[in-house]
Amino acid sequence: MRKIEAKAQAIAAAGTLFACPVCGENLVSVGTSLACANGQRYDLNKKGTVNFLNAPVNTEYGEEMLAARRRVLDAGFFSPFLNEMAREMHPDDRLLDIGCGEGTPTARLAKKAELAVGFDISAPAIKLAGALDSDALFCVADLARLPFADNSFNVIADIFSPGAYAEFERVLAPGGRIMKIIPNSGYLCELRHALYAGEDKEHYSNAKVKDHFLARYPDSTVTPITYDFDCTPALFADIVQMTPLTWQAPADKRADLLAHPLPSIHVDVELVTTTIA
Ligand SMILES: [Zn+2]
Repeated sequence: MRKIEAKAQAIAAAGTLFACPVCGENLVSVGTSLACANGQRYDLNKKGTVNFLNAPVNTEYGEEMLAARRRVLDAGFFSPFLNEMAREMHPDDRLLDIGCGEGTPTARLAKKAELAVGFDISAPAIKLAGALDSDALFCVADLARLPFADNSFNVIADIFSPGAYAEFERVLAPGGRIMKIIPNSGYLCELRHALYAGEDKEHYSNAKVKDHFLARYPDSTVTPITYDFDCTPALFADIVQMTPLTWQAPADKRADLLAHPLPSIHVDVELVTTTIA
C-alpha cells in the first residue's frame, strides 16, 4: 500500500482526531483528505502528512539544520530521556508530540503508544518526519490553534517546546498526562562556555518555564536526567549546527569551536510530568 493510503486509513481508523483550525468543527476522512462541515478541506500529501497552515511560516529551521538534527538524534543524543519518557507510557496511549521537529522522538515514543501524532510549524521538518518509517502521523500546524478535536489524546510530549497549556488541556481527555522536557542549567554547557564566556548567555536558568508549569500544575513530578554524550568530530559539528544556542554566536567563536571539536557534550534536563484533572 502506498504511504498516503496507509496514513489515510490510520487517520480514518482513529475516529475523530482532527478538528478544523479555521472553524473548530471536527474533520472527517474523505479518501485521502480531511474535510469539515463548513467546506474547508486538507489533503494528505504523498508521504501521508497534512499541512493545516493557511500560509507557509518561515522558521529558522533550514534543511541543513534539520538534517544535522536527524543525524544527532539517530546517534542517540536524546535517547536517555526518551527512554525515561517511554517507560511512563502505556500501550493504549494516544500521544501528541508538540513541536516534533523532524520526528525522530515521536517515532521512538510511537512504539509505546496505540496512536501517535507529531506536529510542527516547520514544513521542512514535517517533510523529513514524513519520510520516517513509523506509524506516527505528522502534520504542519500552529501551537496556538491545534487542529485536534477536544479530548483526542491522553498524553502530550513536549520536548523543549513552548507550552500552550489551555490548548493542551482542551485536546487531552480527562486524566490525561503531560510529559515536558525542560533544559536545565548544565544543558550544552560546553557550548555556552566556549561561545559566551563572560556574557549573560554563558548561564541559563529554566526557572521561568519551570515555575510557570509548576504554578499551573503543582502536583507535578520533576525528574532530573543528566548524562554526557560522546561525539565524533562530525557529530560535534552537527550538534553545533542543530542548536539555536550557536546560531547567534560571533562567527569567529563559532569557527574556533568547530576547529576544536569536543569529545563529549553535557545533557542536563528535567522531565516534568503531571496528570490533568
Ligand atoms: Zn472548517
